[in-house]
Amino acid sequence: KPVVAIVGRPNVGKSTIFNRIAGDRISIVEDTPGVTRDRIYANSEWMGTQFSLIDTGGIDIGDEPFLKQISEQAEVAIDEADVIVFLVSGRGGVTDADEHVARILYKSNKPVILAVNKVDNPEMRVGIYDFYALGFGDPFPISGSHGIGLGDLLDAVVKAFPESANYEEDKTIRFSLIGRPNVGKSSIVNALLGTDRVIVSDIAGTTRDAVDTPFTTPDGDEFTMVDTAGIRKRGKVYENTERYSVMRAMKAIDNSDVVLFIINAEEGIREQDKKVAGYAHQAGRGIVIVVNKWDTIKKDNHSLHDFEVHVREEFQYLAYAPMIFVSAKTGQRLEKLPELIKKVATNHAKRVQSATLNDVIVDAVAMNPTPTINQRRLRIYYTTQVAIQPPTFVVFVNDPELMHFSYERFLENQIRAHFDFSGTPIRIIERKRK
Ligand code: GDP
Repeated sequence: KPVVAIVGRPNVGKSTIFNRIAGDRISIVEDTPGVTRDRIYANSEWMGTQFSLIDTGGIDIGDEPFLKQISEQAEVAIDEADVIVFLVSGRGGVTDADEHVARILYKSNKPVILAVNKVDNPEMRVGIYDFYALGFGDPFPISGSHGIGLGDLLDAVVKAFPESANYEEDKTIRFSLIGRPNVGKSSIVNALLGTDRVIVSDIAGTTRDAVDTPFTTPDGDEFTMVDTAGIRKRGKVYENTERYSVMRAMKAIDNSDVVLFIINAEEGIREQDKKVAGYAHQAGRGIVIVVNKWDTIKKDNHSLHDFEVHVREEFQYLAYAPMIFVSAKTGQRLEKLPELIKKVATNHAKRVQSATLNDVIVDAVAMNPTPTINQRRLRIYYTTQVAIQPPTFVVFVNDPELMHFSYERFLENQIRAHFDFSGTPIRIIERKRK
């Protein structure tokens, strides 16, 4: 999916525009920690074209001086985006800070679209002419608070997307590593790619993104490690900020089939771990929980089991995700990772037969009667799988209101007991039979 970034000095209305474009499409699932609440990254769509949206204004660079902050935010946009929306304010003309942003954006070879915000009425349109001086062609007058002009702006944004050929489907299994700084992501990457066991392909032309690394195992399985460059590189100030790393993780998750969620055994689970895992779950990706630095743990007969229980408690919604204990330092169990990723990817893309599925549901209903509300009983007529990645099931019923979440969970467990969906979330949707 192409990525759009909104950049500009503070107070031009970046978050307002972000929220307008992201709209209500951001769903917050109650029982999972909602990273999406941070509103720094969102999936959106315009006229049938999907894209991701990032608000670099949300990236707080701490105590850096003002202009330095603005520069860092513009750099983020240049690094991450396919198209940049450069936002200025129609009230008060071009400022020094606007010119500062402009100078940084000149140097990028990404398409830049200039939007003048706060043009709330037609009389204010004359004010946009000043902004030709920034050198990004015709400015688009918009009003975030009134929702004016956004359609024209989005038309221009979508038109500037790179050729769709860059986003072609391939059979490779795409996976990413997510986790807080220092959990050992880059050590795992180096250990995996550094062995003779895998053949790292020539990058040019084989993937959609130069930051991805394709490799092949001796069994001939093809994998692409998403955002390898981002995991390895370090140094710029913003790359160490939490919001930036969360945003980058969200982008990697969107581009993956399977997510390796890395936890540091030495430090245990932190708040930031939950955010990122919650997003991977909501996004419907396959998930493997990888506990790294296992070499640092003093072990007795219980340590592995105890740690697993602890993680399972903290991440109840990831009950389906397999867990593996590794050490990037000693290499322990790392060789099992590709196999495990493949298995999860297979389950993530699994389709089951309707006949067998309905047998499972009929048996389930016989075992545990459907719920009733006011003496009206839920009736299940037919169940069918409508999608993969993640596997999604539609249950045709007499009245969707009669479904209870605990009964839905029961059905999910029954489906899981009969088909191997380990590693993948599954979705169940009720529809009224017409
Ligand atoms: P990243 O920020 O998640 O990419 O983490 P790094 O790969 O840079 O690792 C952070 C630190 O943890 C480095 O000092 C590594 O040497 C160390 N480290 C990584 N994996 C292991 C491990 O399995 N065992 C031990 N003892 N240290 C590790």
